[in-house]
Amino acid sequence: EPIAFAQLVADVVERFKLRIEEKNIDLNLHLNEEAIIEGDSDRLEQVVSNLLDNAIRYSEENAKINISVDLSGDEVTLSLQDTGKGIPQKDLENIMDRFYRVNKSRTRIEGGVGLGLAIVKQIILKHEGDIRIHSTPGEGTVIVLTFGPLDLDKF
Ligand code: ATP
Ligand code: MG
Repeated sequence: EPIAFAQLVADVVERFKLRIEEKNIDLNLHLNEEAIIEGDSDRLEQVVSNLLDNAIRYSEENAKINISVDLSGDEVTLSLQDTGKGIPQKDLENIMDRFYRVNKSRTRIEGGVGLGLAIVKQIILKHEGDIRIHSTPGEGTVIVLTFGPLDLDKF
């Protein structure tokens, strides 16, 4: 199923509007409407929701979140950048494992079971996409998803 990815991202953002406002987060959206990907829209909404949930949850008040959907050549990318607390280097390689959370005491207060990123990874793999996480503690996190070219033979 071909999906207008910019619209999908905009719809998810709309659902998080209240939480974004509650934390007075400065949200910047840059959406290329021509970005079309192939896949399961419910699953892809779950991916964007889980990532945005993290970006909001692990950010302080007045933080900044930049989301951009870009089309470069025939690849579609989603980049989600926050100015939250970041993820220590030593945790990065395991961060997408099931039930893995940074510093249990830190996260007990913040809630969550540690499944969000594991689900994201599974869905992205199913879509033959790629996920990269860059993070600096105290500065923030950038997550970049890449989706390959549309296979027109499928339609
Ligand atoms: P769940 O998503 O299942 O409710 P969770 O948020 O703890 O729980 P994940 O989404 O898998 O689980 O994230 C794993 C851990 O990675 C989190 O506990 C948090 O410590 C860290 N993390 C994830 N995203 C971010 C982010 N944007 N900024 C800082 N830390 C993050
Ligand atoms: Mg999460």
